Formats: sequence, C-alpha cells, structure tokens
Amino acid sequence: MSQAPLLQVEHLKKYYSMKTGLFSRAAGVVKAVDDISFQLESGQTIGIVGESGCGKSTMGKTILRLIEPTAGKVLLDGEDFTALQGDALKRARRKMKLIFQDPYASLNPRMTVRDIIGENIDIDRTYSTRQEREDRIAEVMEQTGLNLDYMDRYPHEFSGGQRQRIGIARAIVLPPRLIICDEPVSALDVSIQAKIINLLKALQRDMGLSYIFISHDLSVVKHISDRVGVMYLGHMMELADKRSLYANPMNPYTQALISAVPKLPGETVREKIALSGDVPSPANPPSGCCFHTRCPHAMPICAQEQPELKQVGEDHFCACHLCKACAAAS
Ligand code: SF4
Repeated sequence: MSQAPLLQVEHLKKYYSMKTGLFSRAAGVVKAVDDISFQLESGQTIGIVGESGCGKSTMGKTILRLIEPTAGKVLLDGEDFTALQGDALKRARRKMKLIFQDPYASLNPRMTVRDIIGENIDIDRTYSTRQEREDRIAEVMEQTGLNLDYMDRYPHEFSGGQRQRIGIARAIVLPPRLIICDEPVSALDVSIQAKIINLLKALQRDMGLSYIFISHDLSVVKHISDRVGVMYLGHMMELADKRSLYANPMNPYTQALISAVPKLPGETVREKIALSGDVPSPANPPSGCCFHTRCPHAMPICAQEQPELKQVGEDHFCACHLCKACAAAS
C-alpha cells in the first residue's frame, strides 16, 4: 500500500472581503491565495518564491490554520487537517511549526532563552522533572549552535543570526514533522544566511524534517529546496523539481525571475528579462492570466482565459497558454 505524502495542499483559497463606507458595504474580494495545490514528501523541502504581496506568507499561515482557509483542504499524513477541531487540532498542530523572518518580533523580550525554548514542552509537560526539562533545552541549544551560557539571557542581547537560532531551537524542542520557514534568512547578512541554511539542512538530515521554505530570493531557495513553486498574485505559476525549474523554466514569469539571479561560474547565463510595471493590486487583479499586464509574451487569449496548472514534464507543472499542454487543450 502506498503511503500518503506528509502534506497535501488541495485547491487552497484564502479570500478577504473588502468593506467600504460607514455601513461597511461589501466592496470586493481580495484573493490572496487562489486555488493552490501541491504535495510535500517526508524529509523534503519545497521552496515557494515570488515577489512581496504574492500571497506566499498568507498561504503558509493558512496551511497552519493560523488563518482559516476560505476553501480547499490540507491533508497531514493523509488526515484532513482543515476539518479538525479541539484536541485533535491541537495534537495535529504539534507536527507543524512556523519560523518567522524577524525572530525578534516573535520572541518575548521578557523571557529568558531557557523559557522561550522550554515553553513548547511546558505546554505538553513532556518531561517529568525540572532536570529533564533543563536537559532537553540544553540538547536543542547544542543542536542549533547556541552556547549554553546564553540560557539566562534575553532576546535583545543577541544578534539576528543568534535570534534565528533561538527561534529554530524553540521550533524543534518538541520535534515537529514540518516547519514552515517564512523568509527566515532575508533579514540576515549573506554569511549568516549561509550558516542558518546549513543548520536547517543539518537538522533535516538528523531529524527527517520537511520544510516549506518561503522566500523572495531564488538563490537561497535553490540552495535548500528539492522542489520549487513560483507564485504570482495568489496563483501558482509553475511548480517543478528544482533542477528542472532552474534549467528549463517554462513560465515567462519564472524565466524573468531566474534571469535576474546572479550566476555562478559554469552556470548558464540567460539574457536578463526586465519586467515592466508593478505587480497589480490583488484587490483588482487582471482578467485571464494574472501576469498578462507584465508578460513579454502575452497574447490576446491571455487577457481572457486563466491558464490551468498543467503537467509539462516529469514533475514539472506550468500555468501558461504558451506551454504545449495548454496550447493543445485550447
Ligand atoms: Fe504570459 Fe500568457 Fe503565459 Fe500568462 S498565459 S504567462 S500572459 S504567455
């Protein structure tokens, strides 16, 4: 019998209604996440990239149900996480954790490192003695490269990289299956970014963790991901195995993003594709393909029909009227 993937996201939507005026009349809908589907195997990383405001962080919070979805399902180990309530929801939530871009904002400034990390095991009382608690905190501090002398210190005494290590230690103290990393290194210097990415990879190896790694930085995503999804205005434009996506991007939006990534020696240098205009407002998205107002290859059909995400290769999916799968269907 084949095992269910760790995570299946099926047609996930998060819409916000906009209100206006004194009587809060409905004034439209913002489709922050619009019909996103993907799956993630145990021990793997999926990178989610896109410009700011494309819905990637909202998607992460909706998967965790920190924000309730408007529609769609999230299956965790084959169980419908979106349908769970009460204790069953609490139990399932322990399998998923979130790491933030700015760990400082998420670390209580009045708590010591010991208590910040210990909080998650305090909630579930996973220890029987104070010493057991202390030992577990010390163990994850060592695992995340934190000096044990830091235990009684407060968040403001640390650098950004050390704070992110504290955030990671807090996330793994009660070992989860999946961590959603929301721009975890974008506030850090490049040399520190590499250290945090290497730490996340080492923890993945040692603990069998899975990651959803959300970032606007395609170089960072390339380094850590097995598969990559590209989002634009709440839609998944392309989803593929990392090698296939970076070597052969099919969607014009992905092609433009990848053309802007600095290349290492030996990598194929593509002509830089400059996109004109700004990302349209999600409150007033374009008709048809949401990218058509900026796409260098837009055709008349692009303003009329939204392309579906279709398979274009082995583990390679693309939403574009130019792709053979879409062209053949139209
Ligand atoms: Fe460009 Fe049309 Fe493809 Fe959208 S569907 S990415 S507008 S070519």
